[in-house]
Parts: sequence; structure tokens; C-alpha cells
Amino acid sequence: MPRGNCKGQGWWHGKFRGCGYRLTAGREAILDILSKSEGHLSAEDIYVKIHPKYPSVGLTTVYRTLEVLSNLGMVYKLDFGDGRARYEFAQGPKGAHHHHHLVCTQCNKVIDYTDFIDEEVELLNQTEKGLGQKYKFRITNHLIQFYGVCEQCSGKK
Ligand SMILES: [Zn+2]
Ligand SMILES: [Zn+2]
Repeated sequence: MPRGNCKGQGWWHGKFRGCGYRLTAGREAILDILSKSEGHLSAEDIYVKIHPKYPSVGLTTVYRTLEVLSNLGMVYKLDFGDGRARYEFAQGPKGAHHHHHLVCTQCNKVIDYTDFIDEEVELLNQTEKGLGQKYKFRITNHLIQFYGVCEQCSGKK
């Protein structure tokens, strides 16, 4: 595949050895599904969506590929306390769907919120700046997840 042929493809193409490099069908399919779906998908959910289009991609491949993608920081692996890993597309802090999580440890409900409070934005900016200087580390993204008890669950005692 010639270079410069990556128009109309997802930004992640450049992350794998430049635009001329073909993603494996599995990675491509998984990123495609995650980038188009909102919410949090388990490996099984992803497998069910992928299977009709890519019958050659098995559940084991899905698991393995999700591991690789989460190590690359392109996908978040999430633990909501129900014993099942969930995955979502890792939108950078400036991405339209960038959000944080409030996880209820009683009912495992997850609230995705994007209307960050001012203190939160300020704290994150300062923290990223300070950490970056201290560890000479260029921070490009973060995953913020708070655990607690939701309104409904704290109502019933
Ligand atoms: Zn954020
Ligand atoms: Zn989320």
C-alpha cells in the first residue's frame, strides 16, 4: 500500500509504523467498533459485533488484541468492580467524547460525565504540568475514575 493513502481512515493508522502499514484485520476491526460505539464494551460484546464481518477473528484474538491496544494507550481497559473487564476508545482530553467515570460500588452503575467542574479541570492541568516536570514525562492523556455510592444506592439502606 503506497504512502499518503491514508485519507479517510482513522487517526490510529499513523500509530502503527506510518500510514503505509496495514493494520491487522483484528486491530482495525476492534478500533473501528470501539471508536464508533459509546459506552463500555466487554471482549465478548466486541467479539459479537466483529464476528459477522470478520469471521476469522476469534474470541482469543479479540482478548489478545485488546491487551495490545490498551498497552499502546489507544484503548482503556476498565474495571467497574463486576469482575468483567470493559473497554472503551481512549479519547484524548480534547476529544469530543472525553469523559470521566463515577462508578457505584453497590450496583456497578457507571456515570460518564463530560461537564467537568472547574476545580477538576484546574487540578488536572496543574497536576499534569507538575508531574510532567518532575518526571520529564509528556502527559498526553489520563483516565479518571472515582468509586463510590450512587444516589439511588445511598437512598436505600
Ligand atoms: Zn479528563
Ligand atoms: Zn466511559
